[in-house]
Amino acid sequence: MSQTVLVINSGSSSIKYQLVDPETGEAIAKGLVERIGDPVGKIKHTHGDDVTIEEIPIADHEVGMREVLRLFDNKGPKLAEAGIVAVGHRIVQGGKYFDGPAVINDEVRNLIEELCPMAPLHNPAHLKGIDVARELMPEIPHVAVFDTAFFQALPEKAYTYALNAEVAEKYAVRRYGAHGTSHQFVSREVAKYLGRDDLKQIVMHLGNGASVSAVLNGKPIDTSMGLTPLEGLMMGTRTGDIDPAVVFHLARQGGMTIDEIDTLFNKQSGMKGLTGESDMRSVWEMIFNDDDKEAQHKARVAMDVYINRLLKYVGSYTAELGGLDVITFTAGIGENDWDVRKELAQALEPFGVKIDLAANDGRIGEPRVISTPDSKVTLLVYPTNEEFAIARLAREVI
Ligand code: ADP
Repeated sequence: MSQTVLVINSGSSSIKYQLVDPETGEAIAKGLVERIGDPVGKIKHTHGDDVTIEEIPIADHEVGMREVLRLFDNKGPKLAEAGIVAVGHRIVQGGKYFDGPAVINDEVRNLIEELCPMAPLHNPAHLKGIDVARELMPEIPHVAVFDTAFFQALPEKAYTYALNAEVAEKYAVRRYGAHGTSHQFVSREVAKYLGRDDLKQIVMHLGNGASVSAVLNGKPIDTSMGLTPLEGLMMGTRTGDIDPAVVFHLARQGGMTIDEIDTLFNKQSGMKGLTGESDMRSVWEMIFNDDDKEAQHKARVAMDVYINRLLKYVGSYTAELGGLDVITFTAGIGENDWDVRKELAQALEPFGVKIDLAANDGRIGEPRVISTPDSKVTLLVYPTNEEFAIARLAREVI
């Protein structure tokens, strides 16, 4: 077997992993440990066509990681023979410290810990994964790959909020962005695919969480997520952009606490908040169902809000880029939701954007141009692959 990288994404109650060939992106084996800490947890390990599912108690991350190593040993491929050159850890928040991947030593580990207040749901969970994996695989280099690193190259005017400078400095308040590994991977692959580096690109990472970036000649110049992944586009359960004074209003008039408003904005808003459903497939079902006019209207309005937000970002980023060569759609909605792509493209028709409806049709698992040859802007679907990107970056840095 050639060289491989074990990619680990450790969440608060889960560990997602994939053994990746960093040359080709092939996932040699992958799995998910879920419900860590519950009375009964679940592990799914896939190696080729062989799928193993086990339901057993998984007390903590250490037990979970030991189970993963056991499954590799029993179900294959045996890690000792898998040619692992690095373990790549996905880290949500790298703050101002990391503008690229970093080999994890105690200093790097402690900086990730220092950043916990900036990503209270994510960084502590990543640390558990790092600590356990380093202990169990001490002979292999461990690499942290940060979701924020790509956007450390943003110009000052893009990452600075017009907030009192002293307060912003004291509390490290600025735009860090998120999904950076995906935006970097996709924008680079698009440049290769189109055979040009000098591109004015807009990348739309539309998943349950969603963000858009403007990339000029390979460098990010703006992105929609901010201090946290709440800012920007409307998402499955998040508001995206909203007047910050709504917070004061809900606190004063509604007597809501900060934690309640946090939950409301992050988990009970967006598509879910407007329609009751966070998944786009369910929202389209409501739109296409003539039997329930009320739900249909609600869902249509929500979709209009969603598309309109995308449109606003295309407009402002085109102005910032000084023109536009390509819009790329990626992630769950970007790759699979042809109606979202179609409605956005049709709204851009006055600017010479022409979608090829036949090419756009269906779910798209391979890179594909979905605009007509005479469209002023190339529309592209390019599947993202964050595990491949992490594996590649981890191998590069060692
Ligand atoms: P995340 O990684 O942020 O959880 P994904 O990139 O996996 O999200 O995207 C998940 C979302 O993609 C789902 O919530 C759903 O809205 C959307 N999605 C997936 N498949 C389809 C499809 N066939 N049609 C429309 N939307 C889809």
